[in-house]
Amino acid sequence: MERKLKIYNTLSREIEEFNPLNNNEVGIYVCGLTPYDYAHIGHARTYVFFDVFIRFLRYLGYKVKHVQNFTDVDDKIIDRALKEGKKFREIAEKYEKAFLEDMEKLHVIKPDVMPRVSDHIEEISTLIVKLKEKGYAYEIDDGIYYHVPLFKDYGKLSHQNLEELNRHRIEPNPNKKDIKDFSLWKFAKEEDYKTSSVFKPKCCKEGRPGWHIECSAMSMKYLGNTLDIHGGGKDLIFPHHENEIAQSEAATDKVFSKYWMHVHFVNIKGEKMSKSLKNFIRIRDALSKFKASTLRIFLLSTHYRKDLDYNDESLSIAKKIDLDMRKSLGVMIYELNAKNPYLHKENKHDDRIRGKIMVYKEEFIDALLNDVHTEKAISIMKSFLDLFVESYQEYAKNNQEIPLQLIHHFYDEFAVMNNILGIYDEKMLKVNYPENALKLVEEREVYRNKKDYEKADQVREKLIKMGYIVEDFYNKTIIYPSIILDV
Ligand SMILES: [Zn+2]
Repeated sequence: MERKLKIYNTLSREIEEFNPLNNNEVGIYVCGLTPYDYAHIGHARTYVFFDVFIRFLRYLGYKVKHVQNFTDVDDKIIDRALKEGKKFREIAEKYEKAFLEDMEKLHVIKPDVMPRVSDHIEEISTLIVKLKEKGYAYEIDDGIYYHVPLFKDYGKLSHQNLEELNRHRIEPNPNKKDIKDFSLWKFAKEEDYKTSSVFKPKCCKEGRPGWHIECSAMSMKYLGNTLDIHGGGKDLIFPHHENEIAQSEAATDKVFSKYWMHVHFVNIKGEKMSKSLKNFIRIRDALSKFKASTLRIFLLSTHYRKDLDYNDESLSIAKKIDLDMRKSLGVMIYELNAKNPYLHKENKHDDRIRGKIMVYKEEFIDALLNDVHTEKAISIMKSFLDLFVESYQEYAKNNQEIPLQLIHHFYDEFAVMNNILGIYDEKMLKVNYPENALKLVEEREVYRNKKDYEKADQVREKLIKMGYIVEDFYNKTIIYPSIILDV
């Protein structure tokens, strides 16, 4: 029996078996960045999580189409453009570029489509026209609004009742028919003209879209009326995603998204990240202090449905795990790159190790199948690499070479895990060993066999000066570039 993927669905508040609408095709929309400033570590968590999740879906054989937008027309961008005397696109372009750089550094695979609001005004307009026709949209002095009480299912995602919902004051205009109504289109104001954020589509007078309508319009354009999965940060559940559902389902009479997944917050030293506390950690600042591998380990070290705390201790734990895994990988690097291929006969002993390898691999996949427990997956990957070094040690202890097939088995399964978690750049594992370095390794082994430790130490010093870490496994010496441990 094939094992099935299970994920928590915010909509049902239950862990459900994942079954996409069309066989093995998955359409996933993740709400993207509002590029008015550099992205912070909370964004990193959301996008690294979905990156792993989508890598895993692909590993499982799904054909995934990943759409992630840029909210390039927005109050915050306009504010910044005004302050800097620029057009909205100049601001958006700068921070979109910075975001893509940050994501690339964090090994996040680029989404298949990254639509911008400013390029989809026509699609937004069509949707607003449809909502007008169906009686959900009405116009007042400052724009066009969505009339929430007409949509009976309102509140189904955030699980709030009407009383709770009435307490939220989202849009301040007192002329709205209902306090819960939200804007679909905002008529142009002076600051919009100043920053060139004014559009004139068929649906409406000059102005710009409200925040929520863009995601309905763009997700349905690229993924159809019903998405398999809609995701984002937990803060988007209400009002953003609730409003997306209201608009989309009112327009199409179809379920907007089958599954909803939300990633929880990153707190900074126990406090919520906020502008007033000035405790935002920008991704690029974190990347100047920590390697991408360390940050990914950190970001994945807590299940996505729990808050994660950014503090010295949690980062130093991630750093230690990174370092330990790199030490194990150093041994693998030497074996994969330094030797001419040789083949040893497999024996019973290998079956035992191969059996263990398969157990780890299954545990790894199970951890992810069961609501994407990345923290478990990381700890299994670490134990797996520990097993590699222990096995290596056992062979060295018995004065044997570890069979190349076994090393390749370890490497292949490591590559599968790493391709899903995206922690290391595989290029790191390709190392060119110069002939003279390998000669020195041989020399050192000869001295050590003769118990001439003084000479052996001299060779060791030479290798260290050449930039290598030198490790001994009983009589066997291995070397790998010291840069590998530079975390
Ligand atoms: Zn959105």
